[in-house]
Amino acid sequence: MSMADMREPIESGCPDGFQYMHPAMRKNFGQWKYHDDPQPGVLRHVAYSGDQVFTIKAGTQRILDVFTLRTLCDIGDKFADGYIRFTIRSNIEYIVTDEAKVQPLIDAVTEAGFIVGGTKNSVTSLSHTQGWLHCDIPGTDASGVVKSMMDELIGEFTAWNMPNRVHMTTSCCQINCGGQGDIAINVQHTKPPKIDHNLVANVCERPSVVARCPVAAIRPAMVNGKPSLEVDEKKCICCGACYPPCPPMQINDAEHSKLAVWIGGNHSNARGKPTFQKLVASGIPNNPPRWPEATAIVKRILKEYKEGAKDWERINEWVERIGWPRFFEKTGLPFTKYHVDNWRGARASLNASTHIRF
Ligand code: SF4
Ligand code: SF4
Repeated sequence: MSMADMREPIESGCPDGFQYMHPAMRKNFGQWKYHDDPQPGVLRHVAYSGDQVFTIKAGTQRILDVFTLRTLCDIGDKFADGYIRFTIRSNIEYIVTDEAKVQPLIDAVTEAGFIVGGTKNSVTSLSHTQGWLHCDIPGTDASGVVKSMMDELIGEFTAWNMPNRVHMTTSCCQINCGGQGDIAINVQHTKPPKIDHNLVANVCERPSVVARCPVAAIRPAMVNGKPSLEVDEKKCICCGACYPPCPPMQINDAEHSKLAVWIGGNHSNARGKPTFQKLVASGIPNNPPRWPEATAIVKRILKEYKEGAKDWERINEWVERIGWPRFFEKTGLPFTKYHVDNWRGARASLNASTHIRF
């Protein structure tokens, strides 16, 4: 086939980000000399060319209605240079090259009811998964947890109070797009799914559901003369993986779907290897609309971290230094056999899987 006959590819991925960049950022791409932090919520990048760019970061509630977006964009047009971007933690960033624009921009953002901060050693916005708005399996609304928690942590977002930066995440199920964070708040199902046998044959592809279970706890079964499924509840780890392909396997439950708090997750970086989160609090009520019990636990952990960690220690480094017994002592969280799970048990449970063998 000659080149002339070849079909043009359909571009359906992310658009090229360069077209949206502030011209000063485009011009100095890859040519930055250093950056510093003039004040909370403001970054200054200085290029080898002598150009400097100020980034002003403000927190948002992530799921934004069009009116809020227009408000934020109008502020960008009027007080910044007309360029914004969103970070993965749902913060909005305005970019300006003129230092004189920084304070009026901060005043305008604050006046509109947003908060500027989230840089350096602060608690930046929680990142969260989609929740009820986009997904069919959440056990809670992650966005709601984020909003109510950040309302209580505004002081930690707008100031540099922490020993190092704190990244927090929430996940509305246990299995899919959850995040890795210094503190993670995750849904924890505590009971196996309840099966509506009347619906299984009409709604579910049984082989797909059987294959979905990580511990091979689901088997095909005939119930009341209809093809259905059954769950070996001794094997079931209540992960919720069977609910997406088979909604009649209902696992979300107002009382028995709880929240759990895990701490110490960190991606690898120039200083260290990745670290995995460890469970420190479980069975916390999933209690909308303000989730006071989960928020109280997170605040308790942050308080002890703030008071006890050395400068630059992340939460995982602080706990490794003082030891897990001391962590539970200081935070007053109860320690049970389920906590600080390091997955030594995984060999036994995952070897029962149809997929994973080791
Ligand atoms: S964490 Fe789970 S429930 Fe929440 S959006 Fe992701 S897949 Fe859906
Ligand atoms: S997929 Fe998860 S919740 Fe469903 S039966 Fe298997 S272990 Fe239990």
